[in-house]
Amino acid sequence: MVKILIHGGAGDIRSEERKQLTGNVTYDIVGEIYDQLYSGMSALDAVQEAVRMMEDHPTFNAGLGSVMTEDGEIEMDALIIDGKTRKMGGVIGVSKVKNPILLSRKILDHKHILFFGEGAHQFAQQNGIDLIDPNKLITDRIRQRLANYLKSRSADYVDPEGRKYGTVGAVALDNQGNLAAATSTGGTLGKMKGRVGDTPIIGAGTYADQDIAASATGVGEYIMQSMICLQVKYNLIRARNNLYEATQVALDDANRDFGPMGVIVMTTDGQWTASHTTPDLIWAYKDDSEHKSFTREE
Ligand code: ASP
Repeated sequence: MVKILIHGGAGDIRSEERKQLTGNVTYDIVGEIYDQLYSGMSALDAVQEAVRMMEDHPTFNAGLGSVMTEDGEIEMDALIIDGKTRKMGGVIGVSKVKNPILLSRKILDHKHILFFGEGAHQFAQQNGIDLIDPNKLITDRIRQRLANYLKSRSADYVDPEGRKYGTVGAVALDNQGNLAAATSTGGTLGKMKGRVGDTPIIGAGTYADQDIAASATGVGEYIMQSMICLQVKYNLIRARNNLYEATQVALDDANRDFGPMGVIVMTTDGQWTASHTTPDLIWAYKDDSEHKSFTREE
């Protein structure tokens, strides 16, 4: 049985319109990817393609529509992992590529695992990925959100859209029984230049092996310190292989020690969960009997 589960960020989504939009977009994306998985696509290609589609959609905080640093710059992070081979590829602080996940995938086939900044851009050029002007990734909506944030700069600032993060991620199980995970982000709105979040940190924001695949979202500092993806894997044994319970315990511990977040997880034996301690998590799922998103079920 093939399965695809994706997320479009955790947080507190105040606008009903944005809830409906993200619920519909993610619902459609899992529909498309499911068909391809069903026809034999690998889990690795499926998570890459799902994340690429969300990077290209301006509503998410990844690729086009990424949030900016306090200096108004783009610094994107991404990571992709093949559960079967444990190969991985990721980027940190890139600004000149349209799809950080496609660059990450090229890196996965290379001897190095992670590239940052200009070195990542150079690797992209050497491997057939065109460099772009970072301004092309900035949308008017994000310019406005940064301006609002800078005006009322404080930890308590509440974005009129809600406190939300919009990172994108995917986990999938293919018809060979293999898992994969991928995550891509612009980071957090108004972050300092050079700040790195959890997304490209193995076992924190993204993880996959032959048993489990996971992708997290929320404040990267909380996620890195709690190593949430790996923590769920450890908890599986304690929870007698009950994925939902293992994930809840990991999230509750992380919430108590650091703060709220969201995570999507899938196991080789077919369990899956989209769990969160934030008020909301944008997610969608499809297998051969269920097709749903956090706002929609048909
Ligand atoms: N986790 C991301 C980061 O801290 C943000 C997000 O999930 O939207 O970079």
